[in-house]
Amino acid sequence: MKQYIYADHAATTPISEKAKEAMLAAMDRYGNPSSFHREGQLAKEALEQARSEIADCLHAKQEEIYFTSGGSEADNQAIRSAASIGARKGKKHIITSAFEHHAVLHTLDALKKEGFSITYLDVHENGIIDVSELEQAIKEETCLVTIMYANNEIGTLQPVAEIGAICRRHKVLFHCDAVQAVGHIPVDVIKDQVDYLAFSAHKFQGPKGIGGLYVRKGAPLIPLLYGGAQEKGLRAGTENLPAIIAMAAALRDACEQMSEQMRKVSALRDQLIEGLSEIPHSRLNGDRIRRVPQTINFCFEGIEGESLLLWLDQKGIAASSGSACTSGSLDPSHVLLALGLPHEVAHGSLRLSIGMELQKEQIDYIIHAVKETVSYLRNISPVWEALKKGEKAYVIQ
Ligand SMILES: *Cc1c(COP(=O)(O)O)cnc(C)c1O
Repeated sequence: MKQYIYADHAATTPISEKAKEAMLAAMDRYGNPSSFHREGQLAKEALEQARSEIADCLHAKQEEIYFTSGGSEADNQAIRSAASIGARKGKKHIITSAFEHHAVLHTLDALKKEGFSITYLDVHENGIIDVSELEQAIKEETCLVTIMYANNEIGTLQPVAEIGAICRRHKVLFHCDAVQAVGHIPVDVIKDQVDYLAFSAHKFQGPKGIGGLYVRKGAPLIPLLYGGAQEKGLRAGTENLPAIIAMAAALRDACEQMSEQMRKVSALRDQLIEGLSEIPHSRLNGDRIRRVPQTINFCFEGIEGESLLLWLDQKGIAASSGSACTSGSLDPSHVLLALGLPHEVAHGSLRLSIGMELQKEQIDYIIHAVKETVSYLRNISPVWEALKKGEKAYVIQ
């Protein structure tokens, strides 16, 4: 194969050289941070140094950062904490959006069985909630609003600071799953007025299996895991120090290069959008402007997303049809259905999520490969045949 282009950064990112070096070096920091002796204390210092660096990138205080095994655990812990405090006060209503990550939606499903009621806000055709609809949905019994920063399948951004302000005004806790935002765009927990914010290292060129939760000082937090007194007794288990140190290195790096990275990746993304929009009966999913630099999602009428992915893989391009977590099932993505797309169109979707390492020429190659494959697949598609003959109406004009 001449080249291999990795365009699936929303599923996971390649580890950066800086994070890899930091992780290797940290392997020798073998002490247990809970130990009293010198080796333990050196590990403890390194742990707190990493915590402080991560806090700085998010404009948080060091003691407001808790380490977890990743974004999923952070989402679970934030939601469970707010729900448990809410339940004690008889407040068992939670507001979310229809297209959250499954780490949020499935936690809420579990809470439903425990008697919570959930309001799912519409994300409309542009993939963005309407803050006035949020405000109307808040009731006396509402204990939590959980809305993501940026969507993992289509890349649209939510008006997080406005949501935060509304929640503060109504004295409702606000959790934000910021896994697709942290390390990609500036995130400021003060400006955004969040109470909880989840992040995950492997989405910003850190290692897998490590992440964290920002918890505003004063916001309630309960443990999911019981055991030792790590993380102030709120997350038991000996800390994964090499991964934590590597996560801090990756995030520091991302924060230092943020404006250059955003400029470069946005330009590549715009090139992709322009090129793919030339394909007839295609559409960009979600708002054109209010989106993260790295992720786009397109629908092509008359084709199956899965076949497109197979062909692109053959041509040396790693892409996705949406969430890595739902691939393998034939159900169309809950995200695309939430945008109001009909099933048959939601099936023909392609997510491309890119990183700084790609060059303009590689983007040209992706555009060329997608155009070629879409036209090949349409030529052998009975659905496309029916559309062309006018036996069926186009959904995408
Ligand atoms: C990847 C992702 C998660 C899950 O993070 P893990 O670290 O893989 O558990 C949660 N939310 C969003 C938006 C994600 O993209």
